[in-house]
Amino acid sequence: MPQSAIKSFQYPESLKEKFLKTSDIKFRYSKTVTPEEIWHFMTVDAPRRYPYAYEVNPYFMDQISADVNFLTGIKCRYLRLSQKDRFLGAHNNGVPIIFTQGGQTFEPYYAAGGIPMRPGLISRFADDLVEGQTLNQLGNNKKEKLEFGHKLIHTESCGIVGSHVTVQRGLVPVDLIAPYLCLRCSDKQYLVESYRNIKNVESYDDPASRGPYFKKDIPLMLIDYPIDNQNEKEWATDYLETMLRNLTAKITELGGKEVTDKDLAEEIRFENKIRKLTQDIVHLWWSAPVPPTNSSDFAGTSSTSAGLFRIGNEFSGDPNGAYSVLKDAYTELQERVRTGVKGTGVSDDPVRIYILGPAATETLDPGYIDKQGGVVVGKDDQWSEICTLVDEGGNNPYQNLAKAILSFPIELPTEQRAEWAIQQVKQSRADGVIFTHTWGCNFQSSVARMICDIIRDEVGVPVMDTGNNSGNSSGLGEEQSKTRVAAFIEMISG
Ligand code: SF4
Repeated sequence: MPQSAIKSFQYPESLKEKFLKTSDIKFRYSKTVTPEEIWHFMTVDAPRRYPYAYEVNPYFMDQISADVNFLTGIKCRYLRLSQKDRFLGAHNNGVPIIFTQGGQTFEPYYAAGGIPMRPGLISRFADDLVEGQTLNQLGNNKKEKLEFGHKLIHTESCGIVGSHVTVQRGLVPVDLIAPYLCLRCSDKQYLVESYRNIKNVESYDDPASRGPYFKKDIPLMLIDYPIDNQNEKEWATDYLETMLRNLTAKITELGGKEVTDKDLAEEIRFENKIRKLTQDIVHLWWSAPVPPTNSSDFAGTSSTSAGLFRIGNEFSGDPNGAYSVLKDAYTELQERVRTGVKGTGVSDDPVRIYILGPAATETLDPGYIDKQGGVVVGKDDQWSEICTLVDEGGNNPYQNLAKAILSFPIELPTEQRAEWAIQQVKQSRADGVIFTHTWGCNFQSSVARMICDIIRDEVGVPVMDTGNNSGNSSGLGEEQSKTRVAAFIEMISG
């Protein structure tokens, strides 16, 4: 598409008055922002600095929710587009940034005064360091990192290899690499090995000429994670407790904030509050006769926004900011459910799709699912953690956290994970299930068929097990998965 033909999205001025009546966003690591400031950023600053996020381009994943009247959606996008400023500001104030992976909870990182970032957050942080990019430029940058990472680390790595490259190139400031070694993520070994072996490949040529290639001085720390039904075993919780204590001690070394058991207990209480609120949002959404938001606002993740699920789990790098936005979301959804408002972009009698698999809605474009007559009613990734409240009693919060982490449904033996997924499929009244896994997500691709079969046999809904490409905003290689998803929805709708 020629550059001159690219259209830019603008929020309608008619929304402003209503938007200004919403609440402030209170952040932990940066100053409180008023709706007025958010509106200005989203309508003046961000379109100039991040034009890709406003590009209306039919060839790429839907960047902007069709439902502009969902005011919380504007705040969700604000959380996303303000990341660069917030993260750089916090880091300049001495807050350590920690690259993590594995899907476990964030309490130890935040209690110790750090900001944990999973690969997606790292990648989006890096996206915005160069301002003024079009979607095509952004996509090409991502593709270059992906290809370089595949060559450098392994062609079997999943798409998050681009985030490894981002960190190893030193493109974003990372002070510690501290992933959980959970079973479900086969990419972990590549991450760990690539950092362990940095010294052996330091002369590796960086074709993008982005300065010194390897940041040899980033410390690496592993949080070992015992697998296979360990949640009832005392040794396993003791072992994980030791790992978590080592983690907070390491972050204290970097950032200088002493962390007591009381600090961790308080952080658990706060993050439980976010989990409960997100659960309430999801149950409210499920209870509605018509979907009160579209799939993107509910469960989506694109380069430019995050749905409520993701904010309820990853917090966009700031738990307090996430809580502020989720509170607004709950109030707005209550009103929509009460008055029977349907999310814009959702068809009248949509096929309700439950999605399984990590990084699922990053790779299956939720806006596309809506356009095909479907709607995403949930996903197991992230929901697994949101559903697991950490015990707030006793006097050892590390033990409580370890027990919770070892109980995440998505990490349980496959039959148990499938049984939990069945409950979610039933509660969400799903008409069909798609298990999607990206290229390189080896553990998930090997359990997908088994989980799909168990769900189909017990619930009787159609299931689809599908791989897809690594997923990025350039939409490369998406055609085949899109065709299959469209056919699946059409088959169910009859
Ligand atoms: S997509 Fe799979 S392999 Fe890649 S980071 Fe997620 S869980 Fe790990």
